[in-house]
Amino acid sequence: MITSLAYFGVTSPNHKDWETFGPEILGCELVQPGADGAVRLRFDEMECRLTIHPGERNDVAYIGWTTTGEKDAEALAERVKAQGIAVHRATTEQAASRAVIGYFWFLDPAGFRQELIWGQLRPRTPFRPGRAMSGFRTGDQGLGHVVLGVPDVAESDRFYRDVLGFHLSDTVVDGPIHAHFYHVNGRHHSLAIARPPSGKSSFLHIMFEANSLDDVGTAMDLCEQHGVPMTRSLGVHTNDRMTSFYLHSPAEFRIEYGWGGLEVDDLWVPRYYDRTSAWGHHHLNKHLSHFLELGDAGSKA
Ligand code: FE
Repeated sequence: MITSLAYFGVTSPNHKDWETFGPEILGCELVQPGADGAVRLRFDEMECRLTIHPGERNDVAYIGWTTTGEKDAEALAERVKAQGIAVHRATTEQAASRAVIGYFWFLDPAGFRQELIWGQLRPRTPFRPGRAMSGFRTGDQGLGHVVLGVPDVAESDRFYRDVLGFHLSDTVVDGPIHAHFYHVNGRHHSLAIARPPSGKSSFLHIMFEANSLDDVGTAMDLCEQHGVPMTRSLGVHTNDRMTSFYLHSPAEFRIEYGWGGLEVDDLWVPRYYDRTSAWGHHHLNKHLSHFLELGDAGSKA
């Protein structure tokens, strides 16, 4: 059983920019770099949840999901194999580079490298935010949520639900947008999928949730001060009621920075909406790419 989003990894020629962007804008703690020079960022009690590897292009490298343990991860890996998908077991060194005890990895039907992990490490030192803030809402709800652009929504919906065990929270149909949102814990969604206009696999955004609305306002002020482009204005989503804005990261993908997301429970019944936002979330800096098209970094990382 997948229980939460554990971590996220990307490649970027601008990876060094994250040494300041991570702590000063987002509020993460900069921790020891990876063996390849990767910038590693901490959000909470876990050693590392976001890694930016040096690379020739901005690309998604991997998405890590917490399972309840090795046996559980093995059982999930078998289910994936039964779909005719090749599954690989990480070496001890590979697992150590993610600050976990072990993981299995595979490429999902849309081409994203998914990792099923167990034993995420917690260092003895407490989390120290990179700037004054109240911290991130993680814990049982994991790092946040990722939104993936997939070429075949029906195929990916079947895979994430029937094979990996994600639960549908709701569906938004808004003009050409047809998006599904899934939960694996109390967070309204840890994963969402939609078909991007290009029809190609792409990364839409990752969401980090701060512990207070003031942290979101402060992040907006810092974006203004440091010339970090915002790509959507402050707003509230219809479905998870998150108060958030979107910013453009140095690796060219978008980050949703929010507060106050809705919690769901086992009795949740999927809902349907005709809009993604109740108010706000107006598009800004439209010249910037909204979609980071998936290359092949994931198969090599
Ligand atoms: Fe989002």
